[in-house]
Amino acid sequence: MVNGYKMAVLIKQVPDTSSAAGVNPDGTVDRARAKRMINPFDKYALQKAIETRAAHGGEIIVISMGPPPAMEVLVEALEYGADAGYLLSDRRLAASDTLATAYALYKAVVYLKDVDIVFTGLQTTDGDTAQTGPQIAERLDVAQITYCETMEIVDGRIHASRIIDGGIQKLETAAPALITVANSASALEHKKFANVHKVKALSRDKAEKEKRIKTINLDDIGAEPERVGLLGSPTVVGKTWKLGEKGGSCQLFKGDKPSHEVELLVDALKGGDTGVEEYVA
Ligand SMILES: Cc1cc2nc3c(=O)[nH]c(=O)nc-3n(C[C@H](O)[C@H](O)[C@H](O)COP(=O)(O)OP(=O)(O)OC[C@H]3O[C@@H](n4cnc5c(N)ncnc54)[C@H](O)[C@@H]3O)c2cc1C
Repeated sequence: MVNGYKMAVLIKQVPDTSSAAGVNPDGTVDRARAKRMINPFDKYALQKAIETRAAHGGEIIVISMGPPPAMEVLVEALEYGADAGYLLSDRRLAASDTLATAYALYKAVVYLKDVDIVFTGLQTTDGDTAQTGPQIAERLDVAQITYCETMEIVDGRIHASRIIDGGIQKLETAAPALITVANSASALEHKKFANVHKVKALSRDKAEKEKRIKTINLDDIGAEPERVGLLGSPTVVGKTWKLGEKGGSCQLFKGDKPSHEVELLVDALKGGDTGVEEYVA
């Protein structure tokens, strides 16, 4: 029984998009060669959990699903102040789409037992779908607050503000809940020396390391193998291509009013001859 809130923070390891290492000539990522990092959006989720623990007590458990190198993000999360980390790693998870990923992560959250709040990032910098969090909430059958910017817990109820088109929406719910944290929320604080020191000491203390970092597989979490990986992924990637390649063309639609410009655009999309100006970059 945790005093305070038992929180799970989902963190994905993604290729470092600021580096060209690991990008194939066709624009696809060679994950084995790419530099790796914590998905930047997930740092906001971790910070929300750290703030919640500071205010109300509790425990922060980080879960990452990925191949063995994803252990790096768990270690880093511990350095930032997480209490424990679970790496969900299993060859049968390879090629999972968001449906399969959400199923596996949902099973991992259930495996942790009695989680009060699940925090996820808004989206990732590689898959970029923003679907995983909401799908997990559906499977857990808990309230979900997406695009959460600020939150506080008052009398056991979560009060949150979330970003919506043109404004802020205020919501209130009881735990358990899943919250996807916006990247306009507070940024992750620097690592504290004491946490980094404790993580370094784990290499000398096997028992403590096993308590704080574990690798689990599909059998541990009771996941059905046919619901993950290629078998459990109905998504089909039809084609991939590089965005923003030099040499692309740009059409400007100039009309006397916005509705006229939209008509010109629709005509062009239908293949009509609009006579608009065309610029070649
Ligand atoms: C047909 C197909 C095949 C694919 N094959 C592969 C493959 O072989 N290898 C591969 O690496 N990817 C593969 N992917 C990508 C895979 O779908 C995504 O990695 C995964 O579903 C998460 O989606 P996302 O990155 O869009 O996350 P989002 O939905 O954008 O992420 C939202 C949040 O969910 C959490 N989250 C998401 N993924 C994880 C994770 N793995 N661990 C912990 N937290 C997480 C994070 O908090 C994140 O901020 C494939 C996708 C498709 C469609």
